[in-house]
Amino acid sequence: MRDILLIIGLFCGSFLNILIDRLPKGEDVIWGRSHCDYCKKKLRWYELVPIISYVVQYGRCRRCRKHISFQYPTIEFVTGVAYATLFVLYGRSPILFLSSLLLFSAILVIFIADMKYQIIPDSMLVVSIVAVALCAIALGASTFQLINHGISALAAFAFFFFLWIVTKRRGMGLGDAKLAFVLGLFLGFPKIVEAVYFAFLTGACVGVILMLTGKRSLKSRIAFGPFLILGAVLTIMYGERFMELWQKFI
Ligand SMILES: [Zn+2]
Repeated sequence: MRDILLIIGLFCGSFLNILIDRLPKGEDVIWGRSHCDYCKKKLRWYELVPIISYVVQYGRCRRCRKHISFQYPTIEFVTGVAYATLFVLYGRSPILFLSSLLLFSAILVIFIADMKYQIIPDSMLVVSIVAVALCAIALGASTFQLINHGISALAAFAFFFFLWIVTKRRGMGLGDAKLAFVLGLFLGFPKIVEAVYFAFLTGACVGVILMLTGKRSLKSRIAFGPFLILGAVLTIMYGERFMELWQKFI
């Protein structure tokens, strides 16, 4: 079953690639045909088989011989591995498993789309909210938890909305505020505070590195959504250990 999920994940990853590139441009995600980024040649069905088609064509377009973005096989592979892993972790509870698949997929699309186009698609935010709601149902969240996570979502949104206003709508995007709402809803308090802290920390580090290596200037804008997501992942993985360390110091 785990291997079947891996295969399903590879094909879903192929669809996530389509969402990543079409949602920010407002293109049709169901009926639009996939084409080469350079020569616009429409792709045949056998050129859409995840990873295999990339390997068979040596990572190049069959017509113009330009390199196909490494994004495509990478997203396919990551999605396949993630779906199989999520099945191992949550496969026993169908609702929890479904919500984890939805949340992973939507967050992955947001991460790459924001990095590539600096746009966070609203539809993916809606999917994430549905996923978090399903997760709350599957886990039987208490009233206290629901209130906690609801307030965390609103507070996180308000914080980034405030930043959006004071930076005159240039520093942060409104999409960052909406994404913070989703992450607040998912993490609750105090985890959301940690996630935002990690996001600013990693964002500042990467910003300094990019400036020192001359890849970006002080003025250029870096998408903040990926850092918010990274902050949430770090919190889920290391949040508790970090809190223990912190308490030793105060
Ligand atoms: Zn081409």
